[in-house]
Amino acid sequence: MRELLIEGGHGGRIEMRAGERLEIVNVEGSQICDFFAFRADDIGEFLSPGHTRAELMRLTLGAGDRLVSVRRAPMFEIVEDTVGSHDMIFPACDPPRYRLGFGLEDHRSCRANLAEAMADRGIAYEHLPDPVNFFQNTPVRADGSIAYGGASVAKPGDKVVLRALVDVIAVASACPMDLTGINGDRLSAIRLVVHES
Ligand SMILES: [Zn+2]
Repeated sequence: MRELLIEGGHGGRIEMRAGERLEIVNVEGSQICDFFAFRADDIGEFLSPGHTRAELMRLTLGAGDRLVSVRRAPMFEIVEDTVGSHDMIFPACDPPRYRLGFGLEDHRSCRANLAEAMADRGIAYEHLPDPVNFFQNTPVRADGSIAYGGASVAKPGDKVVLRALVDVIAVASACPMDLTGINGDRLSAIRLVVHES
């Protein structure tokens, strides 16, 4: 078993072999986890929320669903989900989100957390992939608009468990957004636990 505790607002990277299971634990509740993944043997192939939506023909996620890559190859299967409220539509929060929305120049962001975590792999900033946003409460309404601003409904200890279907480099960001209430009253930690097969 390997563990990584990611402080609220920060990111972390963990490598997994095919068959291993990754628990993504909402330690104190209400914390969004932006999740990114790359094939370990070819980082040009990465987890794609767009292709996952198309393969599932759905905007929501739950146990039994497979998350696919930009080449539509299965990368993970969700084997457990104690929350059932996630997002596959929003891009990661990024420096322009904080600059344009709030006039803040130096706020941490999920996209910058991803860039930092993968800095040694030489991916251009504009080519960083979009996340699957576990625990994010932004449902689509019947008229096609997106409801925004409600705190994550995840409770302390809630989790999503993924089984890796290929060897992957996974990056998680405990979202630093502390200006809209979407992460509850304050930022908090995400714990990653990898169980060997
Ligand atoms: Zn974020």
